[in-house]
Amino acid sequence: MAEPHKVTVLGSTGSIGVSTLDVIARHPDRYQAYALTANSRHEVLYEQCVQFKPRYAVVLDEQGAVSLSEKIKTAGLPTEVLTGAPALEKVASLPEVDAVMAAIVGAAGMRSALAAARAGKRVLLANKETLVMAGHLFMEAVHKHGATLLPIDSEHNAIFQCMPASFPQGLASVGVTKILLTASGGPFRNFTQEQLSHVTPEQALNHPNWVMGPKITIDSATLMNKGLEVIEAHWLFGAEANQIEVVIHPQSVVHSMVQYNDGSVLAELGNPDMRTPIAHALAWPERILSGVAPLDLFATARLDFQRPDTQRFPCLRLAFEALKLEGTAPAILNAANEIAVNAFLQKEIAFMDIPQLIEDVLGNSCIQPAERIEDVVDADDLARSAAQEWIKRKGAPC
Ligand code: NAD
Ligand code: MG
Repeated sequence: MAEPHKVTVLGSTGSIGVSTLDVIARHPDRYQAYALTANSRHEVLYEQCVQFKPRYAVVLDEQGAVSLSEKIKTAGLPTEVLTGAPALEKVASLPEVDAVMAAIVGAAGMRSALAAARAGKRVLLANKETLVMAGHLFMEAVHKHGATLLPIDSEHNAIFQCMPASFPQGLASVGVTKILLTASGGPFRNFTQEQLSHVTPEQALNHPNWVMGPKITIDSATLMNKGLEVIEAHWLFGAEANQIEVVIHPQSVVHSMVQYNDGSVLAELGNPDMRTPIAHALAWPERILSGVAPLDLFATARLDFQRPDTQRFPCLRLAFEALKLEGTAPAILNAANEIAVNAFLQKEIAFMDIPQLIEDVLGNSCIQPAERIEDVVDADDLARSAAQEWIKRKGAPC
């Protein structure tokens, strides 16, 4: 029998990371968790090392690495502990690694995702921020180094499943007219502007359909998540802004759709559980069990679709604007959003300050071409400083 595929799971202690290990654990004959990485949840990482016995474990801080190494040694595990951000790039590009799950949250995941693409790996991309910040550079690396890119975001994974294999030749040539990107609408879908101005982090962290990390949960409540996904779809599928339509679909059963010029609309449906796209991307073009229960359409009973309201949810409009501005604009949008989300979670700004901060930072930034990774990193740095300044000047506690 063939050797199991060696998989690096970047961000193994997060929501996507844990779901990835759940799928891997169901198929020990096919997959081996070869390298695991964590930022702060060292205890969870240690438990994962006990269960999966990876060759490498990566933590960011020196102190954490020392104590994790000691515990691993005492337990007699075969795992070597590496430390620091460069180690993330190392485990993403080791020659013996077959596949890399890029599931670190935010801009912090960009360099390691890029390293996996440059090493020509099968890249399972959950970290949408990489494509938002450096879509052109990332896609160039994928093509130049022969990487296989498989989207993990449920919408993009659904779109991928509804596209013909030859879609990279161009959407028009395969008869695709539109991507219909579904969005649950988040917990505040029916809130008035007035109600939105008073929402708390606790309310925003309570997503109706999906269990996810805190950053993407807030992004889902502002609809910035959908905005980032519009930019992600642009790069993954070569779709222009006017070929991507956001559709509010509160049940999150239709994970997205592709519309063709003959009137056909293909959709992928399922229960909202990230193990479906993870299993799909791990096994593609084959299919494997994911642990997800079969969809019960009779229990679902109805599927609703509405237009998004960009008056109440300006983040979606801002993301479309950044996409049209091109260059470093999406990286600026992303950086300002990361700072704003964090400040909202810390109760330093109100919910509706999030779009206002992003609009102000984007409007006052100098947008440059994003030709080198340094252009993106510089734009990200500047936008973070501008966002921090904004909070100092205008932040009003929520
Ligand atoms: P999470 O917060 O649950 O986990 C994040 C992971 O990244 C953790 O393992 C953490 O240790 C690691 N991490 C955080 N900061 C880091 C840093 N500075 N350096 C190195 N590692 C760091 O997040 P999540 O919900 O699993 O999301 C991960 C990514 O997947 C995000 O980009 C998100 O947009 C995307 N995504 C998530 C979901 C979902 O259902 N959770 C769905 C679609 C896409
Ligand atoms: Mg998504």
